[in-house]
Amino acid sequence: MDLTTARSFINGDWVKTTQRKKDIINPYTNEKIGVQWLATKKDVKRALDHASLNIDKVAAIPSYKRAEILTKIANHLHNEKQMLATVLSKETGKPIKSAQVEINRAVETLKRSSEEVNRLFGETIPGDISKRGENTIAHTYRVPVGIVAAITPFNAPLNLICHKLGPSFAAGNITIVKPSPHSTLIAAAFLHILLKAGFPKDAIHLLYGGADIGEYIVKDDRVSVISFTGGINASKRIAQIAGLKKQLYELGGNAATIVHDDANIYDAARQCALTGYSNAGQSCISVQRIYVQTNILQSFTEAFISEVKKLNIGDPLHPKTDVGPVINEATANRIMNWIDEAKQNGAEILYGGKKQGATIIPTILKNPSKQSKVVCEEVFGPIVNIIPYKTIEEAISEANHSPFGLQVGLFTNKIDFAYKVSQQMKTGGIIINGTSNFRLDHLPHGGIKNSGIGREGPRFTIKEMTELKMVVLKMK
Ligand code: NAD
Repeated sequence: MDLTTARSFINGDWVKTTQRKKDIINPYTNEKIGVQWLATKKDVKRALDHASLNIDKVAAIPSYKRAEILTKIANHLHNEKQMLATVLSKETGKPIKSAQVEINRAVETLKRSSEEVNRLFGETIPGDISKRGENTIAHTYRVPVGIVAAITPFNAPLNLICHKLGPSFAAGNITIVKPSPHSTLIAAAFLHILLKAGFPKDAIHLLYGGADIGEYIVKDDRVSVISFTGGINASKRIAQIAGLKKQLYELGGNAATIVHDDANIYDAARQCALTGYSNAGQSCISVQRIYVQTNILQSFTEAFISEVKKLNIGDPLHPKTDVGPVINEATANRIMNWIDEAKQNGAEILYGGKKQGATIIPTILKNPSKQSKVVCEEVFGPIVNIIPYKTIEEAISEANHSPFGLQVGLFTNKIDFAYKVSQQMKTGGIIINGTSNFRLDHLPHGGIKNSGIGREGPRFTIKEMTELKMVVLKMK
């Protein structure tokens, strides 16, 4: 298996003819580690021509076989964990221990997808509920949609492909995968394993490229479902050009976590430090805004700083590293500008605020203004804001004051209070006694407002990637 070359995979074969190529650079060492060959408009057309001719063939693979195949690729992935984690870490700068967690999660996502094959049930509905329906009976069952476009980001590049490909294949569809241009080698390594494990060649196409290739795919009316994970700008553009087809959006956020005065401060501080800076803050649910009740502000802040100081920063391939670089130096510079802007608007830097190359020292900002970018936009970097509040009403209002609504964390010891707060949070999910940054892959993940449309998690995604078919029998 060549782990340095990313080529598109179309019509059952790796594409060798394309002329456009791009170097792949390790964001930590700045060294060239490989080459990606970019797809063309013609490649997209070839892939969709082929896919549209093979819809019935893939849909005809029996359910038990689809489940078996998904279990088999999950097992192969598990066996190749070390190799995959290394590729992922070198290509994106994700610390190796976090990369290993991602491979484990990808294995689980595929296993959960294989289980969902066995739960694709319909129902029987009596017709005579209606007077006009006397002597009729109806039943429903689920059928594949045909072609699913899976467009994925760089920050969890393997697991998020699995979150789309797993349910899509479980449903009996063909998937066109377009990974982020920042995570192409891991996508290629995954596809090599898939093919080795016996995944049907007609059921997947892999196309490399950026927004241009993504747009050719989403515009094509032979695609039935677009499953997109990424940022708000790209999603708005897709919504403009995609036309009449089902669209699922998993987008970003500026997630809040509330620490109330009856909480275990030390546990909250430890969890906030671990999940505010994991993957250098490059997670859609990363802890970006911590609202802390004023009477525990000092003790929480001290505990938090002490936990952040324990994080190991540096070489992503070192087994002890907690925080590595962001995806590239240009992104690090953008984040440093946002820190400067917050500082100029009155924020106090309690820790960090410096960078080396693409690595930013975990940064704690206290009391940034509400208008600063680090508060109201998605940072997607290792910055956490500490913001005091007096009453829970104030904390709820501030946490909800966001264009996003993905997940929120709440630390408290009172269960009834926790439930009352959770009812008022304008987010897709709330984590009680945990931070915003917690996800189990079988749960329904997704947001409201600018955080997305739809829910991801095999049990939920598979429904979105099938159509409900109704059969009515009129009895004589
Ligand atoms: P991005 O939006 O830049 O890119 C995501 C994907 O979309 C890439 O494959 C990219 O090439 C493609 N793309 C970009 N413009 C496009 C267009 N016009 N048409 C079609 N495709 C297009 O995002 P990113 O920087 O790779 O990832 C970070 C974003 O993803 C953050 O906002 C993060 O919060 C979000 N994210 C969300 C979740 C979730 O589950 N909600 C999970 C991970 C990441």
